[in-house]
Amino acid sequence: MKVISLGWGVQSFTLAAMSALGELEPVDAAIHADTTHESKLTYEFAARWTPWLAEHGMQVATVSSSSAMQVWRGGMIPAYTYNGSKGQALRTCTQRWKIAPIRRWLQAHRNGQPIEQWLGISTDEALRMKPSPVKYITHRWPLIEQHMSRKDCARWLTEHGLEVPPKSACTFCPYHNTAEWRRIKATPEDWQEAVAVDRVIRKARPPYDLFVHPARKPLEEVDLRTEEERGQLRLWDEECSGLCGL
Ligand code: SF4
Repeated sequence: MKVISLGWGVQSFTLAAMSALGELEPVDAAIHADTTHESKLTYEFAARWTPWLAEHGMQVATVSSSSAMQVWRGGMIPAYTYNGSKGQALRTCTQRWKIAPIRRWLQAHRNGQPIEQWLGISTDEALRMKPSPVKYITHRWPLIEQHMSRKDCARWLTEHGLEVPPKSACTFCPYHNTAEWRRIKATPEDWQEAVAVDRVIRKARPPYDLFVHPARKPLEEVDLRTEEERGQLRLWDEECSGLCGL
């Protein structure tokens, strides 16, 4: 059984489209683990392109975790803190919101078969490649096999008359770089959610305050232009278990 982890970002959508158009072999399903906190632009993109994938024979299964709203308790996202020195909370969101719901779906549908799970990791993010920690799943990285970078994916989509999706991530993801924060800010609904989450997690882990931005100040007080000009970018290759942002 073959499945694609579909995050609705550039790389995983490219994988799904390549399979749908026959440039890669067919898969049994594309599984989207919905954190329920993706940006409005990502949800709009998914709504536009799910029917196209279906028309080309690809089933999209959307799964989510019942803990997806528990972000309000803090401690799940890798929020920043200051406890005498700069610290960061342990990240459990990817496991809880993405990996676990996908595995539950796979267990319910695999009928004892082994799974080949395709991950949309491109050559510029090869450090994120990790073998599957469970025996019934084997990871595969077709974009690496095709020597495709993120830019190559965008070019491939454009050449095939397809839309290039926005980067997928939770609106409040502490791994956003400054450009991403600015993109979130440009969509009022996304910015409101990010600011709300930033406020709610503040006192979730006393005695230390938590923040979604590495400046360790309230999100609405962060000068995003100044941060970018200073070159203090947060890069996406930190670690996201090959499932976030793809
Ligand atoms: S995008 Fe960020 S906040 Fe959302 S699940 Fe991934 S690491 Fe966590």
